[in-house]
Amino acid sequence: TYRALRVIQDGDEKRAELQTLPLSELPEGEVLIAVSHSSLNYKDGLAVTGKGILRQWPMTPGIDLAGTVLDDASGTYAPGTAVILTGWGIGERQDGGYATLARARAEWLVRQPAGTDAAWAMSVGTAGFTAMLAVMALEDAGVRPGHGEVLVTGAAGGVGSTAIALLSAAGFTVTASTGRPEEEAYLRELGASGIIGREEVPALKRPLEKERWAGVVDTVGGETLAGAYASTRTHGALAVCGIAGGTGLNTTVFPMILRGVSLLGIDSVTCPRPRREAAWQRLARDLPASRLADVTQTRGLSEVPALAPQILAGQVRGRTVIDVNG
Ligand code: NAP
Repeated sequence: TYRALRVIQDGDEKRAELQTLPLSELPEGEVLIAVSHSSLNYKDGLAVTGKGILRQWPMTPGIDLAGTVLDDASGTYAPGTAVILTGWGIGERQDGGYATLARARAEWLVRQPAGTDAAWAMSVGTAGFTAMLAVMALEDAGVRPGHGEVLVTGAAGGVGSTAIALLSAAGFTVTASTGRPEEEAYLRELGASGIIGREEVPALKRPLEKERWAGVVDTVGGETLAGAYASTRTHGALAVCGIAGGTGLNTTVFPMILRGVSLLGIDSVTCPRPRREAAWQRLARDLPASRLADVTQTRGLSEVPALAPQILAGQVRGRTVIDVNG
């Protein structure tokens, strides 16, 4: 048997409960994994509170997991290999990481980079992986440290915190936008050199505001994204990651056609394998466990139902690792 946090449908209500299940409950997939750690992301908050991420019930949420291979019918991974799995629909369309065992397709897995462990991988998790993809996208679009300030919105959250650390490691000057001014010391410690209030980012009224940002990592969406876009400098770019503040985007094409500004979409779930592996290698180099210590708290699986509403309310700082045996 194995233990899992399941979201079940009870009449019109969805609720999460810890269950002990037979192995026959595991989904399909060539690889059987002993999960040691998962993590808590915004999406997991939505799943655990029954807010429309899961496609069927009962389901085990958890969009991230790390552990060791017990058996691989595809022959790709020897038993004992340390692996990481993020995205590809786990914890959404198929059972995910909030369990002591998981089954997955071999092609979804990434080997744990040398010198790292499962707790590190989940301290990075989908949030840190997404931040890495965002930084790589800005670099691919030609944004360079010498071009000026890079804005990170939703700065004290998981994607935001790790984006600040990664940008600062790459030599960028980072300005952090946060709704939590009390986190200023934390954000500066991560590498932000400027801190601005959440309300300072939305556009004043014009489609083209004064040019300020060489690049943007946006986790908030809505008016924050529209404002950052209107203030992005000529030939700058925005890595568009999230919806913590809204899903709408009410703006004009002017920054694109008069300033050559680019909106870059980031999707960590379906990120192709070669880029996925490159991102994890660079995370191992630029975001070692020592850099993540202050960003990370570790909690047990049984604490997830209480943490889920907190992450949706923007009250969780940085990253939360879930010890599935804890
Ligand atoms: P998180 O830890 O909850 O961070 C979100 C942050 O956004 C909060 O900490 C808060 O930062 C800010 N925020 C919250 N509510 C807000 C509001 N109403 N208005 C403005 N800012 C608000 O979540 P996360 O795991 O980092 O994820 C952040 C976003 O990225 C989510 O929307 C998530 O779905 C998305 N995401 C996308 C991908 C992808 O592949 N595209 C992958 C991972 C995550 P401050 O307190 O500092 O203001």
